[in-house]
This record gives sequence, structure tokens and C-alpha cells, in this order.
Amino acid sequence: MFGLIGHLTSLEHAQAVARDLGYPEYADQDLEFWCSAPPQVVDDITVTSATGQVIHGKYVESCFLPEMLAKRRAKAAIRKILNAMSHAQKNGINISALGGFSSIIFETFNLENMPQVRNVTLDFQRFTTGNTHTAYIICRQLEGVAKQLNLELAKTTVAVVGATGDIGSAVCRWINDRTDVADLLLVARNRERLEALQTELGRGKIMDVADALPQADVIIWVASMAKGMEINGETLRNPCVLIDGGYPKNLSTQVQRPGIHVLNGGIVEHSLDINWKIMQIVNMDVPSRQLFACFAESMLLEFEKWYTNFSWGRNQITLAKMEQIGGASVKHGFNPLLLSL
Ligand code: NDP
Repeated sequence: MFGLIGHLTSLEHAQAVARDLGYPEYADQDLEFWCSAPPQVVDDITVTSATGQVIHGKYVESCFLPEMLAKRRAKAAIRKILNAMSHAQKNGINISALGGFSSIIFETFNLENMPQVRNVTLDFQRFTTGNTHTAYIICRQLEGVAKQLNLELAKTTVAVVGATGDIGSAVCRWINDRTDVADLLLVARNRERLEALQTELGRGKIMDVADALPQADVIIWVASMAKGMEINGETLRNPCVLIDGGYPKNLSTQVQRPGIHVLNGGIVEHSLDINWKIMQIVNMDVPSRQLFACFAESMLLEFEKWYTNFSWGRNQITLAKMEQIGGASVKHGFNPLLLSL
């Protein structure tokens, strides 16, 4: 059985979802309430692959909210993730994806050193960040969108915002090795990590976000931000493609200008038969046909019986593993979401 450990994008979102799911007593509660709410299994899921194989899974809502980080409630955030992992393990789940901020909290606060959750010793082999599949899908989105818009990658400048992160560094490795992108702009805050990445790649221009945006034809957003950034669409190139892989979204601005194309990053379209309720409320444009790539990774591991923490640690994603999970992704019927032109 596979698991998806998810969270909602804001307190407002959580209140609306509680109302929709028929928990009116949660709907008017404040952040304090969510800090003490226990994890819940909110959905049982059946998935039929394009190959006809059938698997079963559960969706575990951790009750973590990004405001817990913004308001420095780190202990609450840590408790949410550990409790959700323990809950998944107690429910007999073989492999669970740590969706959105769950894996970021796990890494940032070194939760590997805290395997004991009351009477449960966490078996980390049962969890995956899902980041290898997410990075693979974002790279395929870049390649696919370039084809859709007749952009020649050899003449294209790509900026990666969050370049030194787990997903961002993998995307940079792929761009460097598997494409002929003309220029690669590396954006993040910590200079030392940016320089280490630049040395590893043997290329890339280090820039801050304000300088990079006007120079890029494609901007890949994979920064871990609790709240989206506002950007001025007027400063962007025309045409310009924004692939926003953040959860919550890195961009709070609705950039609506002819020639500016915005694509949800790290999202797969699929032809699988997925029987679940929860996707109706997790902000997908077409809930029955779209899914987070990190969640799809735990389904792929279950389909292939690769019961291992396939994506683990930070900045360990190799091109070989991206290709391996990519092969399984294609086999079972997942495709990168592209622009609807
Ligand atoms: P990491 O924590 O590993 O990396 C985050 C990166 O963002 C780092 O490079 C960090 O560098 C940078 N960053 C953080 N804040 C800023 C800022 N204000 N400006 C510029 N750079 C910034 O995160 P992951 O790679 O694991 O995840 C990245 C994003 O992808 C998250 O939003 C996550 O929720 C989302 N995600 C989406 C999935 C999907 O299925 N679509 C799956 C998994 C994750 P520095 O601190 O030096 O600035």
C-alpha cells in the first residue's frame, strides 16, 4: 500500500477544506487549533495503471500549515510531520511521499535524528520525498514547453529560482547534461551553496532574483517559500515562460500579459483511473487528470514494488535515478503537464 502525506497551503485554505469535507467544527478554528490537531487518514485511494495493474493507498493529512513556519512555530511543524509519518507507518503503509513542505521540514530540522515517536520507531525506508520524480517532470515540462512555443533551447536563457535546493539542483544537473540551454542563471540566497553548485556544474551565473528575472526566457520556480512572491510582469522578457513548481506557489502574482506563459510545475497529467475524493480540494485545475509529481512517485514505487526511500536526503538526486523513475512514470501513464494553448 502507498501513502501520500499532504498539507494545505494556508490557514484560509484549511478552513475552506474543513467546511467542504464536512468538519464544520474545524472551519472556524485559528492557527493554534491546527497546531494541536492530530494527523488523519482522510481518503482511501485505488489506482489503476495504464498497464491495468491496481494498487491501493491512503491520504494522510498532517494538519501542518505553512504559517507555522512563517510564525516561528517550528516545534509544532516538527510534531506535525513526525506524527503524520508515525500515523502512516501504524496504518501499514509501505511507501509514503512526504508532500510539499513535509520533506523540507524533515531535512531542515534533521528529523532523521528523531526516529522515536512515542511507541513507534520510524522506519525511514518507508518514506520518499518524491523529489526525483518532481525534478524529472519539471525538466520534461521545460523541454515540452520549448517545443510548444518553438523556443530553441540553444538560444534560451533559463533561470532556476531555488537552484541550490533538492529539486532545483537536480533540475540544474539535467539542464546542464541533457539539454543545450544557452545560459543558466542560478538564483537563491546563500552564496556559498550557489558557488558549490556552480563548481559542480562547471557553469551557471549566480544572480539575485531581481537581476535574473529580466534576463530569462524561462524561469523555473522551485524555492521553498511559505508565501508566494509578487513580481512585476512588465520587467519580464516577452515571450517568457514561468514554470512554478512551488507548493504553496512561489508566485502570488497573476501575471497576465500577452506573451507571458505560466505553467504549474511538478504536475503530471495522467490517463490512470484514480478513485479518490481528496484531489477535489488540493488546488488542481483538472482534479481527475492531474496530480503532484511527488505523490505520483509513491504510486510508482508501489507499482514497481521498489519499497525503498527512493528520494532521500538533500541534493543527492542523480540523472540515472531521474531516468529510472521517468521510465516508470511513462510506463504507468503519467505525462508532464504542458501549456493549453
Ligand atoms: P529545498 O528546501 O531543498 O530548497 C529550497 C531552495 O529555495 C533553496 O535553493 C533555497 O536556497 C531557495 N530559497 C528559499 N527561499 C528563497 C527566496 N526567498 N528566494 C530565493 N531562493 C529561495 O526545497 P525542495 O527542493 O525540496 O522544494 C522546493 C519547492 O518545491 C517547495 O516549494 C516545495 O513545496 C515544492 N515541491 C513541489 C512538489 C510537487 O509535486 N510539485 C513536490 C515537492 C516539493 P536559500 O535558502 O539559499 O535561498
